[in-house]
Amino acid sequence: MEHFKCLIIGSGPAGYTAAVYAARADLKPVMYEGLEPGGQLMITTDVDNYPGFPVGIKGPELMSQFKEQALRFKTDIRLGRATKVDFNASPKKVWIDEEKEITADTIIIATGASAKWLGLESEIRLRNLGGGVSACAVCDGFFYRGQDVAIVGAGDTACEEAHYLSKLCNKVYMIVRRDEFRASKAMQHRVQNTSNIEILYSSQPVEVLGNQVVEGALIKNSVTGIMRELKITGFFVAIGHQPNTQIFKDFITMDEQGYLLTQPGSSKTNIEGVFACGDAQDKIYRQAITAAGTGCMAALDAERYLASKE
Ligand code: NDP
Repeated sequence: MEHFKCLIIGSGPAGYTAAVYAARADLKPVMYEGLEPGGQLMITTDVDNYPGFPVGIKGPELMSQFKEQALRFKTDIRLGRATKVDFNASPKKVWIDEEKEITADTIIIATGASAKWLGLESEIRLRNLGGGVSACAVCDGFFYRGQDVAIVGAGDTACEEAHYLSKLCNKVYMIVRRDEFRASKAMQHRVQNTSNIEILYSSQPVEVLGNQVVEGALIKNSVTGIMRELKITGFFVAIGHQPNTQIFKDFITMDEQGYLLTQPGSSKTNIEGVFACGDAQDKIYRQAITAAGTGCMAALDAERYLASKE
């Protein structure tokens, strides 16, 4: 059975940053990339808000540079997904692809989160084409300056993102599936009091229109059954995220939505030697740069933990 000083699970900005720091600290990190190597940025087109890239960079290109940097310091990057863990065992055990068993002194969890989608065929197709369907207004809103867009959702994220979009766009349609919001009252009032946000209650998108790029959306009112066609160029989905943390649930303390809990100001979890970073433990900021920052913290915490055991 292979044993490692430092195992990193996940390969988004958090995982790769942890790898660079851990490798430079001579922890000889081994990274298992997971189901979607590169993480959420692999389905993002232009990234204009990652510092150090003044003219922007494509999401996949940024991730390829992260990987190259981790490889430069000899991170052992492997294909495979952690499917089971036993953090009560000593040393801690992880199973890869349900068969291979490995152990490690420190484990950095960087498994990220996945945006939830409506599941419409047109939504998925246009998202995969990079044609104007997005789950991140802060990342992509800029490309729709002066245009009309729609956002689906009624939670705090949807309200925050609708408000963000209202400052850039000409008009924002907010599509709410019930006749009320889930968001806090303060957030609701903010969107209700913004003149260029039109809220469509009891409404569900039926289809995103357009062949290569978004040209509109067909919205059905669930009370009246009336269909309405919106002319829009951007279609944002803000119906929540799912942290990829299921396999840790018997060991690591998490909140009711599955986000891993870390001690304030650190990446330490409730289990000694297991650290969490990136979107798996962050439901508030969820940016590539904040994920990278916490990845750095996790590697430094792992290094200090190992030093304290020597
Ligand atoms: P939430 O789970 O709170 O809200 C999801 C919203 O999406 C709900 O309104 C839900 O509708 C709607 N929805 C879900 N599925 C569908 C669907 N298939 N079709 C249409 N609508 C759908 O997620 P958020 O991302 O908004 O928030 C996650 C957590 O993060 C919350 O605890 C939130 O408070 C917190 N947060 C706090 C912020 C802050 O304080 N500044 C900012 C952002 C998030 P319905 O209501 O009908 O279920």
